[in-house]
Amino acid sequence: LRLRSALALVTGAGSGIGRAISLRLAKEGALVAASDRNGAAAEETIRLLEGMGGETGTGPGCHAAFQADVAEAGAAQGLIEQIQAYFSRPPSVVVSCAGITRDEFLLRMPEDYWNEVIAINLKGTFLITQAAARALVSSGFGGSIINISSIVGKVGNLGQVNYAASKAGVDGMTRSVARELGRHGIRCNSILPGFIKTPMTEKVPQKVLDQITPLIPMGHMGAPEDVADVVAFLASDGSRYITGATLEVTGGLFM
Ligand code: NAD
Repeated sequence: LRLRSALALVTGAGSGIGRAISLRLAKEGALVAASDRNGAAAEETIRLLEGMGGETGTGPGCHAAFQADVAEAGAAQGLIEQIQAYFSRPPSVVVSCAGITRDEFLLRMPEDYWNEVIAINLKGTFLITQAAARALVSSGFGGSIINISSIVGKVGNLGQVNYAASKAGVDGMTRSVARELGRHGIRCNSILPGFIKTPMTEKVPQKVLDQITPLIPMGHMGAPEDVADVVAFLASDGSRYITGATLEVTGGLFM
């Protein structure tokens, strides 16, 4: 158990990659605070943790679900306060996984698609990072902040100028946070997943999948667990000298 005694906050924990991360961290012995704007989905994630390590009843020794929209004013700060009140300590592992896509070609992209994606993927990640970092710095025990970015932030993608900008922004923020907080024993890294099978990519037409799959050296799309395993590593002491890094989990796509 690499994460015994860690308390891990996962945003976007109600689906896909965030749910797989919650399960993986619990298996490694962490207590999980699963947060999502869809509160019922976060609760379902906690139910899935039953028998996976840790307790799923109520009380500070048990995994717990939280409802929070990371883009809402005051929500991130409120979430960290709620978690601190519930567990009597701040989360030492903070995984920002909440994210959306609103795809449209540049020439047709409505301004609200831009605003919504930036508000959730970039500003939401900033707000969670800032609120968690304040609590971690005052706790003095250090921690690991892990942002789920995307390979699209590095290489761009058709119909995703907003999404690519949000994820490139997350990576720039990650490196800056790493520089600022290293002296407090707080590490900050990004994971750049490639093409992962989740509800987010279910919408992608078969035609596009057939074009992308041959470009993946590993020959197939990734599973949420492929990303979750790397999160567990970045959360653990095994990565103690890694900070400000962007780790590609793409099966080699666009390397
Ligand atoms: P998903 O749609 O299955 O899950 C996203 C979760 O985030 C949902 O439960 C949703 O309710 C939650 N969420 C959305 N907006 C939120 C908000 N404002 N506040 C709180 N929660 C919110 O998607 P996924 O594929 O699991 O993606 C998870 C993360 O991984 C995202 O940041 C995504 O950009 C990133 N990613 C995914 C892929 C992929 O191929 N699936 C590739 C690269 C990066």
